[in-house]
Amino acid sequence: MKEDSRERQVVPVLVPVPTAEPYSYAVPEGMTAGPGAIVRVPLGPRQVAGVVWDGECSAVDPKKLRAIEEVFDCPPVNADMRRFIEWIAAYTLSAPGMVARMVLRVPAAFDPEPPLEGLRFTGTLPERMTDARQRVLEHAGDGLAWTRSGLAHAAGVSSTVIDGLREQGTFEPVLLPPRPIVAAPDPGYHIPELTPAQREAAAYLRKKAGQGFSVALLDGVTGSGKTEVYFEAIAAALQEGRQVLVLVPEIALTQQFLERFQDRFGAKPAEWHSDLAPRSRERVWRQVAEGAVRVVAGARSALFLPFRDLGLIVVDEEHDPAYKQEDRVFYSARDMAVVRGHIGGFPVVLASATPSIESRVNAEQGRYERLVLPARFGEAPLPDIRAIDMRRSPPARGNFLSPALLGEIGKTLERDEQALLFLNRRGYAPLTLCRVCGHRFQCPDCSSWLVEHRFRGQLVCHHCGHAEPRPEACPECGTLDHLVACGPGIERIAEEIDARFPKARTIVLSSDLTGGVKRLRLELEAIAKGEADIVIGTQLVAKGHHFPEMTLVGVVDADLGLANGDPRAAERTFQLLSQVTGRAGRTGKKSLGLLQTYQPDHPVMRAIVSGDAEAFYSREIAERRTAELPPFGRLAGVVVSAATRAEAEAHARALRRAAPPASGIEVLGPAEAPLALLAGRHRFRLLIHGGRDADMQGFVRAMLAAGPKPRGSVRVQVDIDPQSFL
Ligand code: ADP
Ligand code: ZN
Repeated sequence: MKEDSRERQVVPVLVPVPTAEPYSYAVPEGMTAGPGAIVRVPLGPRQVAGVVWDGECSAVDPKKLRAIEEVFDCPPVNADMRRFIEWIAAYTLSAPGMVARMVLRVPAAFDPEPPLEGLRFTGTLPERMTDARQRVLEHAGDGLAWTRSGLAHAAGVSSTVIDGLREQGTFEPVLLPPRPIVAAPDPGYHIPELTPAQREAAAYLRKKAGQGFSVALLDGVTGSGKTEVYFEAIAAALQEGRQVLVLVPEIALTQQFLERFQDRFGAKPAEWHSDLAPRSRERVWRQVAEGAVRVVAGARSALFLPFRDLGLIVVDEEHDPAYKQEDRVFYSARDMAVVRGHIGGFPVVLASATPSIESRVNAEQGRYERLVLPARFGEAPLPDIRAIDMRRSPPARGNFLSPALLGEIGKTLERDEQALLFLNRRGYAPLTLCRVCGHRFQCPDCSSWLVEHRFRGQLVCHHCGHAEPRPEACPECGTLDHLVACGPGIERIAEEIDARFPKARTIVLSSDLTGGVKRLRLELEAIAKGEADIVIGTQLVAKGHHFPEMTLVGVVDADLGLANGDPRAAERTFQLLSQVTGRAGRTGKKSLGLLQTYQPDHPVMRAIVSGDAEAFYSREIAERRTAELPPFGRLAGVVVSAATRAEAEAHARALRRAAPPASGIEVLGPAEAPLALLAGRHRFRLLIHGGRDADMQGFVRAMLAAGPKPRGSVRVQVDIDPQSFL
């Protein structure tokens, strides 16, 4: 783009709509709009924000060409971020505009923050001096600018005193730069004393700072000090003058984490998650773009913040399924963090006590450096883990907790310590049926049973949110009072605990908690402070929390995750059980993890009980290799959904027929999805399986291009590297 060109300039602009190419727009005379500039452009009847893209424009009829309306006064989306957007679009088979949309989600941040109004001493003294006025001048007499309220507060006077001085001409208004949302972190604020193993890992990470792209897998048991170690990588990046992103599963972003960060760096990181107030979102976005924010701790969408000079990404709990987005653009934030590091030429640290099979294999094959922290910090031993064979030690009729588990809970309470009961099932019971006619309550819009939520008096679908009051009579046979709850959810476990330990303080925790993430964080803090005796919760309590008094973890149904036919079932169960039992005994007290299981000989149970994680990994890796499952092979899922079953099936079959011949890639299905009906839409699945080097994207693209275009109610979703097979 020539600055001095007399002809009308035309530039490509990526707009937030699902087209494959940027659109062309004219740059009005006198306007400069280089690549990366965020601009406002007309799009049909609307005005949208887009990004000026690189490269040439496709030819457009000059009469149809519309002009850019405005270039925002905002730092441009830098070249690394533009390459990142293109990369994700190509990899996930999404429209680049839809990926850019994730960057442009905070339109109010495109305009600069308004400056703060401040006051400065003019040198003119007031006609009448009072004690209060004297105190104000003692603070502001040096001529530095203050805010009105800040000065009043510092001088211990009311704001009207300041107003009076302003009227007298003692102070004049000045504009101050906007307040930073967080203070600058100081890499040398508090340097911890590390254990030898921690020191070695930290030294490696420090050495990598500023040395270009690398990936380290920080693999250490729960409580081994992974956070302490990656803080050193952060310190090194900050010393290089770079920005840092720490990705955490949303719920692990607690006060506890922020405080630990503050203890180390003297300031909190900026937070980025779904619960952030709109005004804070805008300010974080803007200050990240301007470089004022140095460290962001955020959920997966923080990957799309417009960092000015990103120099490190840490992905904590890298195995966590929450890093996968399954909506519009299907991406894995863990994998994309590695891509972002590659594009930006900086290190990436993946941390976990139970790394994903993918990351372990990458480490074995030398692509990632594996740093191991073999033991818990301090004297804290790992919990002693035992399986309770439910066939031998069954619960009382209608109950779900075995005598062995109840006995240990009692002992824990006697010692004034905490117990956690883990069950990954919200509500009271996963199935309700009529004892007379056998009617089962099913969601009208999904192929799933309705889950009873007794506290709310409702039957709820966990897939689409459909809810109906729990009736007294069976809707099929009309019999009164013969509905029966089958199986446990956490509310039912709470009922059992209340009956057995009526004096214990219990907290029930799941995403159903009213009050959202904020309330949940408060409850987690209360638990950490010892304000509960028994905690009953879903996976939300399993993640990364540090509960000093917790010495018993009971898993109500350890077999739960193994039941579905998902290729990752064993891995997921292993990770979840290791993580949840890892909540116990983090401060050195003797601790116990108990798994209620009907299959104590299952390899996953054996690995957890023996503490032999390596046995599990080598077995699982060998199985994946044999079956050519990821990372030894590649998968892509295609879900076709439609208003009717026939339409969905016909379209899925037509796609299957359109699949290009390719050696080494096979198409499985279409088959009706396990969740055959979801929110009123009928679903069919194709699963595409290829070898490690198969061009899955090329194959799927060719199939979609050769197949029929989705018409009517038909929708097609592509999921490269799927995590969910429902
Ligand atoms: P992980 O992230 O591996 O689960 P953490 O970093 O949370 O482990 O450490 C577990 C606990 O041990 C924390 O309370 C942490 O403050 C403490 N800890 C770990 N390493 C050290 C150290 N070198 N010095 C002081 N405390 C430490
Ligand atoms: Zn439903």
